[in-house]
Amino acid sequence: MSFRRLSASLLLSLLTAVAPAQATPGRAPARRSLLGGQHIDGRCPPGFRRCLAFTFDDGPEIATTPRLLDLLDAHHVRATFFVVGHRIDGDEPHHRAQRNLLREIARRGHLLGNHTYHHVVLGNLRPSQIAYEIDRTGDLVERATGRRPELLRAPYGLLTAPRSLGAVAARNLTPAYWMIDTHDWEVTSAEAVTARFRQELLEHPHGGVVLMHDTRPWSVRAFPLIMQVVARRNAELVARGEAPFAILNLDQFVVPRGAEALRGAPLNLRHRRPDAR
Ligand SMILES: [Zn+2]
Repeated sequence: MSFRRLSASLLLSLLTAVAPAQATPGRAPARRSLLGGQHIDGRCPPGFRRCLAFTFDDGPEIATTPRLLDLLDAHHVRATFFVVGHRIDGDEPHHRAQRNLLREIARRGHLLGNHTYHHVVLGNLRPSQIAYEIDRTGDLVERATGRRPELLRAPYGLLTAPRSLGAVAARNLTPAYWMIDTHDWEVTSAEAVTARFRQELLEHPHGGVVLMHDTRPWSVRAFPLIMQVVARRNAELVARGEAPFAILNLDQFVVPRGAEALRGAPLNLRHRRPDAR
């Protein structure tokens, strides 16, 4: 962990804080509840022909997340962080630092989601263990930030077993998947992450929810490169008279559930490999 890097990033945030506030398209408009939503399948919400919503899983990580927060601010992007409970549970200095970091993520206007306590496949667990994975993480985030996560992303996007779906539905949580996988869990350079993003954008030309990991330094370094790709692509689209990619956040994807049962993962997800320590 690098406290020197943390203090540098906090200094940067103080310096950038004097810049005039600008419109932040992805900022949560209000504290409306995100509970009880239909699963977010990763496609753009109605009214948006093209969109991108950045999500960062597996943190918070004191060595990498602070720099990302500064980069998100610099680009006026509000994102969603799906956090792993064990990272903020304990009395070690890095646990305390990561609890503070969680507060900082929320303070800067980002959303926090539940990514379980141990980053495990929920469907492999007994019901009592599933409950612990979700509730302990919810308790820790609520204790640190004052707000309980209302969104849940199952590790590896695996949420099909009836007992894990039932546990999520019983807590009224809204499950969130993705459309664009940057594959930052299998490459090790910012350039490779950016190349995968560009490739995915060709395969999913309307964009959608983007999956990244704030625990990976190359992912953090890739973020501004990805924003350059988006800016260039948007300039081309606008020049052709087409709708550019709107940068959204996950609260704009939540549609209330009716009486129907909560469904599991709808996509042919390729993100199957372990992506967390
Ligand atoms: Zn994960």
